[in-house]
Amino acid sequence: MQRVLFHSTIFGPIRSRRLGSSLGINLMPDDGKICSFDCLYCEAGFNAQGPGTTGLPSRDDVRRMLDERLCAMKENGEPLDVITFSGNGEPTLHPDFAGVVDDVIELRDKYFPSVKISVLTNSTRLGDKDVAAALAKVDNNIMKLDSLNERTVRILDRPAPGFDIEKTVERLAAFGKGGIVQTMLTRGSYNGETVDNTTAEELDALIEAYKTISPREIMIYTIDRPAPAATLERIPRDEMERIGNIIRTRTSIPVQVSC
Ligand code: SF4
Repeated sequence: MQRVLFHSTIFGPIRSRRLGSSLGINLMPDDGKICSFDCLYCEAGFNAQGPGTTGLPSRDDVRRMLDERLCAMKENGEPLDVITFSGNGEPTLHPDFAGVVDDVIELRDKYFPSVKISVLTNSTRLGDKDVAAALAKVDNNIMKLDSLNERTVRILDRPAPGFDIEKTVERLAAFGKGGIVQTMLTRGSYNGETVDNTTAEELDALIEAYKTISPREIMIYTIDRPAPAATLERIPRDEMERIGNIIRTRTSIPVQVSC
């Protein structure tokens, strides 16, 4: 079974397709995964690998480790574009997520005031007012919306019980221009069920949702590294560009295509 990619709380900087030189913050365990989705394409592997043994880093530990790392990067003149919350699961599940965001903003302002702060979230915790308020403080809320079709979401994203697509769209819309919506485009099969969120029907529904949400930007991307579900396809560049153009034309919202 594919295992987690990130083995520390602070990792990188790595060269991100979408974000540039990115110093990562992993608020989940170093040796396991915790997420409210269990996406077939997750670079951290499936949830079945378990939560590991290290537990979640405390707010104080995250602050200390980030302070040390940013201080060293500044002394060494290392370039940095963005500090990104991602890692082995859903960062907003950390019980001190809002406090950690405050610390990261303070440390960013101290060492690299022009650097952006991004959070990659699966949008499942937007109904928590503390999480939503914390997300509203960062530069880039990059919030997942892969499909409006319940069957597709069930197969592709495999949410924990209680996930509600319509409520999620409402909550994304509350961010409006303050948010960025990201969509993974892929197709394939898993356990005998096929999935494809690049069909005309899927794209029509996504476009209507994007128009309702009216985010600052839409990011579409496709499989980059081998996915835990090996049959999932990387969508060819020309098709991604074509889909990006359709979304741009029909929504009048900027679209970033990563492939
Ligand atoms: S939401 Fe993100 S971390 Fe969670 S399973 Fe999906 S890709 Fe992985």
